[in-house]
Amino acid sequence: MDVVNMEMEHYHLVGIGAGPANLSLAALLHNNEKAPNLFIDQKQQFSWHDEQMLDGATLQVSIFKDLASLSDPTNRFTFLSYLHDQGRIYHFLNAQFAQVPRREFRNYLAWAAEKNENVIFGEKVLHINFNDAFIIKTNKRTITANNIAIGVGTQPWVPEFAKPHLGKENFHICEYLQKSSNLAGKRVAVVGGGQSGAEVFLDLLSRPFHERPSQICWISRRRNFSPIDDSTFTNDTFIPDYSNYFNQLPPSVRNKTIKENILTSDGISEHTLRAIYQKIYYSRFVDNDGRAIGLYPNRSVLDITPSKDIAGEWKLTLIHNDFPEQPEALEIDAVVWATGFSPASKDFLAPLKERLRSEGGEYVVDDDFAVQWDGPANRNIFMQNGVRGQRGLPDVNLSLNAWRAQRIVGRLLDKAQPKEQLSSFITWKGLKPDDVTESTVSSLIGFDTLKVMSNGR
Ligand SMILES: Cc1cc2nc3c(=O)[nH]c(=O)nc-3n(C[C@H](O)[C@H](O)[C@H](O)COP(=O)(O)OP(=O)(O)OC[C@H]3O[C@@H](n4cnc5c(N)ncnc54)[C@H](O)[C@@H]3O)c2cc1C
Repeated sequence: MDVVNMEMEHYHLVGIGAGPANLSLAALLHNNEKAPNLFIDQKQQFSWHDEQMLDGATLQVSIFKDLASLSDPTNRFTFLSYLHDQGRIYHFLNAQFAQVPRREFRNYLAWAAEKNENVIFGEKVLHINFNDAFIIKTNKRTITANNIAIGVGTQPWVPEFAKPHLGKENFHICEYLQKSSNLAGKRVAVVGGGQSGAEVFLDLLSRPFHERPSQICWISRRRNFSPIDDSTFTNDTFIPDYSNYFNQLPPSVRNKTIKENILTSDGISEHTLRAIYQKIYYSRFVDNDGRAIGLYPNRSVLDITPSKDIAGEWKLTLIHNDFPEQPEALEIDAVVWATGFSPASKDFLAPLKERLRSEGGEYVVDDDFAVQWDGPANRNIFMQNGVRGQRGLPDVNLSLNAWRAQRIVGRLLDKAQPKEQLSSFITWKGLKPDDVTESTVSSLIGFDTLKVMSNGR
């Protein structure tokens, strides 16, 4: 059993991981003397999907969804504060970006990590035990904490059959910038119909003449290359009010809702789709440059095998979802797997695992994102970006970072949660006969004259 040694450094909170989720918590706790805190990341230095920082890639959410603005607009780690600190606040305004460049947001996150002395890199958390306090063993030392916040994010995912063949010209998108420089003249397949796949396909289409692949195919399991739904009422499902509603639905309804709404988070930005379409138009009708461009939606990749006869050639076997009886084959020289990410390992929790409540592959959290466990009520394990099944699609993107972090701070400091922002225009809950009265409706949406009948009439 690990024991607490009085000489070990002790914190009120230790965060494992320093991606946007835990950086948001670090921002809200900065300079708070009641909650000494430390955030530890295994990377040598801050990065945020750096291998996918392609020219033209933009943030897919509003810039107000930064580390702090939505819960503490006066915080010194907001995006506005970054711009001001860098002396470029007028230039940013005058640049009139329709969407913020992803690289600029990455630089902002790096700035926030660097300016916060409680965030450190180059240290990996190996295991965590508990003996009145959490005992956190890293590859460098052992420290203790009253509470921990897990924000370890995701890791690259490729299908099992692809794993043995990964290498120089057959790689996951998380290695794109370092491995994509020698694709000139090659037949390249991009597998994956989300935003990342779209950006790579566009990048390959946009390369100057001497760097171009001779053939570019884009394969997606979805029926078409589908846009992200970024419309107003859809975005009302990315606010706290909806997250709370979603949380109290039965698990089967939550799962169904996630599947039905996947394009609200995993679809492709319209401007990227338009740019791709226009590139293909140019290639085929204006420049007539003879490149082979293949668009193959509605297919699943079943296998990849090296060619027996030609070194460096691969056979990609596909199945068309509407004609599954006839597998299709593509001969190619390189594959980029834009097949997404899965939750990162939390093996460091193994010593505590039996004490934590889990369901459907997730640790079960309460309203403040603390895992339900058999330990003391004033010792919490907060879970960031790890409960999509309980909190819905926003849990794994940037939308609710600042709000979730604020809830965690409230719990950590044992103070009442601040007043929530107004609820959605939409009534998510089922109405009971007495729920709707003239006064409740007018206070919700501010229409003094609205008359509503009870009993649904
Ligand atoms: C290319 C790309 C673009 C995206 N763009 C958007 C966007 O525009 N809008 C949006 O809302 N979402 C976007 N996302 C989703 C994205 O996953 C999240 O925005 C965000 O990165 C999740 O933050 P996180 O802190 O939970 O995890 P991560 O960013 O994955 O950070 C987790 C950190 O934990 C560290 N870690 C893991 N294990 C340990 C350990 N044992 N010890 C110490 N450290 C550890 C890792 O090194 C890592 O730095 C994008 C994703 C990708 C891939």
